[in-house]
Amino acid sequence: VARRSSAPTVKYFDASLEDHQRDRFNLAQEVRHALQQNQFTAAYQAVFSFKDGSLIGFEALARWQHPSRGLIGPGAFMQVMEEQGFISELTLLMLETALKQLAHWRKTHSNLFMSINLSALDIQKPDFIDALKNLLNIYQLTPDSVVLEITETALLADWQTAIQTIDILRAMGVKLALDDFGTGYSSLSYLNRIRPSTLKIDKSFVSEWSESHDESLLRTMVHLGHDMDMNVVAEGIETVEELNFLKDINCNCYQGFLRARPMFKDDVALADWFSASKP
Ligand code: C2E
Ligand code: MG
Ligand code: MG
Ligand code: MG
Repeated sequence: VARRSSAPTVKYFDASLEDHQRDRFNLAQEVRHALQQNQFTAAYQAVFSFKDGSLIGFEALARWQHPSRGLIGPGAFMQVMEEQGFISELTLLMLETALKQLAHWRKTHSNLFMSINLSALDIQKPDFIDALKNLLNIYQLTPDSVVLEITETALLADWQTAIQTIDILRAMGVKLALDDFGTGYSSLSYLNRIRPSTLKIDKSFVSEWSESHDESLLRTMVHLGHDMDMNVVAEGIETVEELNFLKDINCNCYQGFLRARPMFKDDVALADWFSASKP
């Protein structure tokens, strides 16, 4: 849609709505083009154990390396990808990229895992499963070295289908993590049915604790995870105080800018994280 050069002031609202639609259209076109041009890649954020501060795995996070606008995070493109049906293509790309990298890192550090985020559409239409089996085979990775992260919201979109997908993945031996735990609307009976191996406490709870020092929510979530035999990961650890508190309440693992930001593969120095313990 061509922009009207002499739009009167009273048309402001309409014009902005039109701009908005045009922006989304352009973004959709750009994302399509960027996928063709291989502009998407994975950044990796380290996951550490509270026990001894050692590196135990990574989470792969999508990044768009835009030729003129620089590095763009998923907040800017994930919604358009889902709306336009590009997300399954991104999931495949992330699986291929991240599992290849995992195989490389496991040559020297054989216990590392790789976590990959799934979208609601992946759960409803699990086209990625054949590709995943193929990649495990190609790279000779054990299924339990792969963690697939799903959100409560993704499960709720179509519960019956989600359960089928989850049961297939579980039978394959792949691990599941419930991401952003506590921010969605899933009930405890859902949690009980899917029984992920890992519960990831959303970073908003960590930063809320920093403001209020109200311990009850974080304690309750960690206890719930442990009572259900789950591994509990805290997201978004930014301060030593947060690190110490979550360790005190027996949280198992953590991610956060304090120890490691998401970074590209060539910037990851595994040896540093293995030799050094807590900051
Ligand atoms: P998530 O899976 O919960 O990932 C954690 C997000 O928190 C990441 O943002 C990470 O960079 C950020 N983070 C980690 N540590 C800290 C910290 O200490 N402080 C703060 N403030 N933030 C921290 P990112 O990379 O922007 O990703 C945002 C979301 O986009 C992810 O949330 C995930 O839901 C989605 N996403 C990312 N990559 C993919 C992907 O390949 N596929 C799908 N379906 N979703 C993805
Ligand atoms: Mg995640
Ligand atoms: Mg998360
Ligand atoms: Mg999150």
